Amino acid sequence: MLSEARAKVSHGLAMHLHADPFQMRNATPMVSFTFDDLPKSAATTGADLLEAHGARGTFYVSGGLVGAETPEWPTGDADDVLSLHRRGHEIGCHTFSHLRASDLDVASLANEIMRNRGYFRALDASIETDTFAYPYGYGSFGRKHQLKDQFQTCRSILPGVNSGAVDLQFLRAVPLIDGQMDRAGIERLFDEAETNNGWLIFYGHDVAEQPSRWGCSPALLNHALAAAARRKIPALTMAEALQCARA
Ligand SMILES: [Zn+2]
Repeated sequence: MLSEARAKVSHGLAMHLHADPFQMRNATPMVSFTFDDLPKSAATTGADLLEAHGARGTFYVSGGLVGAETPEWPTGDADDVLSLHRRGHEIGCHTFSHLRASDLDVASLANEIMRNRGYFRALDASIETDTFAYPYGYGSFGRKHQLKDQFQTCRSILPGVNSGAVDLQFLRAVPLIDGQMDRAGIERLFDEAETNNGWLIFYGHDVAEQPSRWGCSPALLNHALAAAARRKIPALTMAEALQCARA
């Protein structure tokens, strides 16, 4: 219980205290599609749908979960990580064991990141992970500066569209999850991105006709991709979008 209380306080501080606001200077609105934990269907159906729209996504992977059995979905394996990388998708970093940053001290977080990067490097030395997503969305005030030294961006699950002065170590993201998002909601978010010249970041997990409670149907993903294309909003990886935001 104590750990739970500590995690909540640390997460709350991470959310509200902007360590170092970054002024976005992107020329147009942008959208990024991100997927966590490498469900097999995200690496296959999800990636195929993105590519059909000429888009690439960011896949946040915990090396310790690759190929592991989960109750929620069949997990992708090392070949899926390699395939995503070779097809031009971005591999992002989670903690190796999928532990929350708020539960880790400096040494153990450093170790988790080192193990995860080591895992990717052993697969293919050209996989560079410049972007991080907080497992379970739990930010950590204490670890924010440490993560800043290691990654260009950290993605939270704090809802909203990023625009103006943002916290790159706690970027907002909205669920692309059937139980939490519908087509009207997607359109409203794109409206907001257009109004504020924002960076809309979706997060999800599996992509299946019968998704888990954390995943989406191909139809919902397709709707979001089609909406971006219709509005001429580029769908970019986290690294590509950051480059545009730095322009
Ligand atoms: Zn995760």
